[in-house]
Amino acid sequence: LADEDISEDELLADPVEKVLEVGGTRHPAIRLPSELFMPERANSEGLDLEDSAILADISGKVAEMPSVPAGMDSDVASAIANAQSVYPAWSVTPVEQRAACLDRLASLLEQHRAPLMAIAVQEAKKTIPDALAEVREAVDFCRYYAARARHDLAPVELPGPTGERNVLRHEGRGVWAAIAPWNFPLAIFLGQVAAALVAGNTVVAKPAPQTPDIARYAVSLAHQAGIPRGALQLVTGGGDVGAALTGDLRIAGVVFTGSVPTAKAIARNLLADDARPLVPLIAETGGLNAMFVDSTALSEQVVRDVVISGFQSAGQRCSALRLLLLQEEIAEHTIEMLVGAMRELVVGDPANPANDIGPVIDQAAYEKLMAYRAQNAARIIHEVPVPATGHFVPPTLMRLDSLDQLNTEWFGPIVHVATWPAGKLEETIAAVNAKGFGLTMGLHSRIARVSETVETCARVGNLYINRSMIGAVVGSQPFGGEGLSGTGPKAGGPNYLHRFCAERTTSVDT
Ligand code: GLU
Repeated sequence: LADEDISEDELLADPVEKVLEVGGTRHPAIRLPSELFMPERANSEGLDLEDSAILADISGKVAEMPSVPAGMDSDVASAIANAQSVYPAWSVTPVEQRAACLDRLASLLEQHRAPLMAIAVQEAKKTIPDALAEVREAVDFCRYYAARARHDLAPVELPGPTGERNVLRHEGRGVWAAIAPWNFPLAIFLGQVAAALVAGNTVVAKPAPQTPDIARYAVSLAHQAGIPRGALQLVTGGGDVGAALTGDLRIAGVVFTGSVPTAKAIARNLLADDARPLVPLIAETGGLNAMFVDSTALSEQVVRDVVISGFQSAGQRCSALRLLLLQEEIAEHTIEMLVGAMRELVVGDPANPANDIGPVIDQAAYEKLMAYRAQNAARIIHEVPVPATGHFVPPTLMRLDSLDQLNTEWFGPIVHVATWPAGKLEETIAAVNAKGFGLTMGLHSRIARVSETVETCARVGNLYINRSMIGAVVGSQPFGGEGLSGTGPKAGGPNYLHRFCAERTTSVDT
């Protein structure tokens, strides 16, 4: 150990046990108390294909695009008008009935898992395990928000003096705009929609322009589940459609996941017209996510978690590891082991289950990432070979000479690595905090005091200790950040639905 001041008893009693216990959070056998709200939890972090039946199920379907229901796209103005006309009836539909629609939708998603996965592979270039996790997370969001709505949205009697009755009610606000990203085109798309609907709102949903088909399929299942057509409208297109939607004075709230500039543009749009009421914006954006590793960490576990956090999904997750911060004493050894692990990675067609990592989403993303790599080629420590054609960005380990060299999020499979001297952990965390993002942070250490320091100093929404930094589980790991990373509340958490509601207090002198 490099730190002389660490006593034996500060090390965890049995590190191997700890590895199993902490690393095991991904294991389906782990069950947490939040099952109160997750009676039939689907376990959204299914990175492994648990049975060959899934593969058999989707083989053939990935080769051919499943048929996607057509004719459901509306134009912005008529979608909002329809959603507005249905709002009065939907908002007084009992919570139980709205929640039952989400439960039915969850079951339909499970029944349609194979075609949904196939579309996720083809349209969003997801690997098969990622496509499976995508459907599971969508199921989890629907069931979780249904359960939470039954619990959270009932009227609350509040105390008052004798002769006074106070009741707090949670009701819909009106028509919400839900704007989803291409990287979770089913899970985040439906998570937004499900929360807004069950809270009593109607919704105009806009998927990312790269992934309209999985959204069309999902909306058609939502309608089959009993959600009135007018209550959930789909509009498709790019930034101009989004701007028309959020700029419309009839929109009562916006839920958005995507880039920081787009979140800021939406916020400006919501304030542009003086005649417009103040409406809530729930934004979840990006991160400049760091993982700290000290000299007590278990190298094998670190390497596995860096590879998962940085390269799974081709690094196209807001939560993904961007900056690996190694204590100086272990840097060389850890990098050597990491390069060894990277040699095992196979990049290729995401439809082939033998491949670990697929391409990035499109030509624009590919060009941006490749140009960044080319400009910084001298700092590349290792890169994984990729097929010659297609939008395959080599998973890359890139050295930083100074933290000043990284100030923006590079949304792809690039992990930057830098070192910190023993005794300078707090200062290094402060330097990461100063970048302004606040989404995820990781730590690998076996010293409880170090964990406490990081927990105290980190300004992030999700801190992961001795495990990977991606794959937040609905109901167990509420997800979302602060600062440039988002407004909160956290998706998949107990405070999410309230933000979609108007809270109304009635006080009666009895
Ligand atoms: N919730 C996802 C995770 O924990 C990330 C969501 C996103 O990329 O927006 O990996």
